[in-house]
Amino acid sequence: MPILYLVGTPIGNLEDITYRAVRTLTEVDFIFCEDTRVTAKLCQHYQIETPLKSYHEHNKDKSAEHILALLEEGKDIALVSDAGCPCISDPGYELVNQAREQDYRVETIPGPNAAITALMTSGLPSYKFVFLGFLPRHAKEKHAVLEKWMSRESTSMIYESPYRIKQTVQAIAEIDPERRVAIGRELTKKFEQVETESIQTIAQMLEEALIPQKGEFVVLIEGVNEEATATHWWEGMSLVNHVDSYMQKEDMTSKDAIKQVSVDRKMKKREVYEAYHIQE
Ligand code: SAM
Repeated sequence: MPILYLVGTPIGNLEDITYRAVRTLTEVDFIFCEDTRVTAKLCQHYQIETPLKSYHEHNKDKSAEHILALLEEGKDIALVSDAGCPCISDPGYELVNQAREQDYRVETIPGPNAAITALMTSGLPSYKFVFLGFLPRHAKEKHAVLEKWMSRESTSMIYESPYRIKQTVQAIAEIDPERRVAIGRELTKKFEQVETESIQTIAQMLEEALIPQKGEFVVLIEGVNEEATATHWWEGMSLVNHVDSYMQKEDMTSKDAIKQVSVDRKMKKREVYEAYHIQE
């Protein structure tokens, strides 16, 4: 039974590869990769002599047909990207979908991923996170995406290029200048840098070249406490109107409405009662 392997490869440090990945890349019939020059370096380092073929954003449909035909012939195939995990901000998922639809076995050989590496190193909350990949380039669309996800509880993870890092930091600062963020630069490489600071401080560090605008970047944005920032339908309403609304709209007795308002406003029932009846 032929297998399509999705193989995680290093994001910088060539030693970040598993024994299983090296064995699989050695044993498969073909390795499909984004840039054959990049993967050739990895193969040379580990003395892997498997033939390389190209699968990238611009030939992925044609190349997928070729891969499926090879699977049909009983060949084992490995898919890798230039760095990290195939399919994650890299092409691959359409191929995986097609292979699965045709009942081929798909196996992932897990490996490094830049966003997860940054998250682990950052000290930002890591139990809930959302991966946004690359943001839209257009300022208005970028702002809309940031605004949406920055109002959530999860840590947002973004990939960014050195050419747009300043602009993206600026866009985050415009939404919330106090927000804690982390910048992961050149992860696992010689000049690795991970800074966790307020976005204002990060902007300053970029300005002063304490964070050089060179290399590869991951930006992480801490989420908010949704409970604390949520707006409630009754905000801005007087306490009396709040109680009356429950009585009118929900058909509650004044006693029940007062009880509900005390829960909503985190007040004592007696305080709500007194405030309500003093107004009457
Ligand atoms: N598939 C990869 C993964 O699993 O992380 C991501 C590929 S995506 C096309 C490339 C982007 O990932 C870069 O522009 C950068 O934002 C991020 N990246 C990759 N390697 C990195 C590294 N060593 N340090 C920081 N960011 C990195």
